[in-house]
Amino acid sequence: TAEQRHPGPTMRDLLAKHDFHTKKQFGQNFLVDRNVLSRITDAVGADDETLVLEVGPGAGALTAQLAQRAAQVIAVEKDETLRPVLAEALAPYPNVEVKFADVLEVDLCALLEPYLTEDRKLCFAANLPYYITTPILFQVLESNLLMERAVVMVQKEVADRMVAQPGGKAYGVLSVGIQYRSRATRLFTVPPGAFAPQPGVDSAVVLLDCTQRADVFVEDETWFFRVVKAAFSTRRKTLLNALSNSLSVGKDVCRAWIEAAGIKPDARAETLSIAQFAALANEYPRTQG
Ligand code: SAM
Repeated sequence: TAEQRHPGPTMRDLLAKHDFHTKKQFGQNFLVDRNVLSRITDAVGADDETLVLEVGPGAGALTAQLAQRAAQVIAVEKDETLRPVLAEALAPYPNVEVKFADVLEVDLCALLEPYLTEDRKLCFAANLPYYITTPILFQVLESNLLMERAVVMVQKEVADRMVAQPGGKAYGVLSVGIQYRSRATRLFTVPPGAFAPQPGVDSAVVLLDCTQRADVFVEDETWFFRVVKAAFSTRRKTLLNALSNSLSVGKDVCRAWIEAAGIKPDARAETLSIAQFAALANEYPRTQG
């Protein structure tokens, strides 16, 4: 394997030394392919002014690479039993701090505030645990942190949905949510052999440029996402039926609303652009007079 081409103790040696066994329930598939680790690190593009937030450092393989390039790395790991493994793997990097916590229960702004000095920019990097990919992504994107970019490894099928354009099968709530907040690019696919233990599916690395949000104006974000979710709630239905059912709006009012937004009531959610969803959501209060 790519790992074995390099001298020195491997991650497997480190895990064996500490008698650590990976836990499926935490989504622990550790990256062992050094080429993939370098490509992710290159995509993050951290420099000596960058603070990197990493979720799920695992045995610290990606963390160590990031620490060589960034000013500081703050990593949040749920599994406390990784403490001795991480202590050894990250001993050479005084610019890394690991917080043991469930990231979904952490106030990220409060966590990073002491490290986010004026001269620093923030990036996010993660080989995400697949069982909670979407909640973690939205927690980071909705956190009010001024993030420059995020580089995340996810299941290939999730990557397809993140970057999907209107008209395709993969286009849905996740595509709109991600692309409303960033410009998403799929960088490369990663086969199961790059991990230990190997996952059952292919993975892909996605770059989110958070400085490039969708060029749309949304009056009320909470309502916007309610409309998007309602529109996609029943795939085979027309926009008219999906919205009127899920939002409990009468058919006639609903038809007038959709038409006022410049959209055909028999269109299907998967054909609507983010700008059209924004127009639809912004139009609703006016429909109500
Ligand atoms: N970054 C390492 C790598 O690339 O080899 C490990 C990636 S592994 C796919 C996902 C990591 O996320 C695991 O270390 C797991 O324990 C951690 N994790 C799972 N759920 C978490 C949560 N809710 N909060 C923080 N970390 C979590």
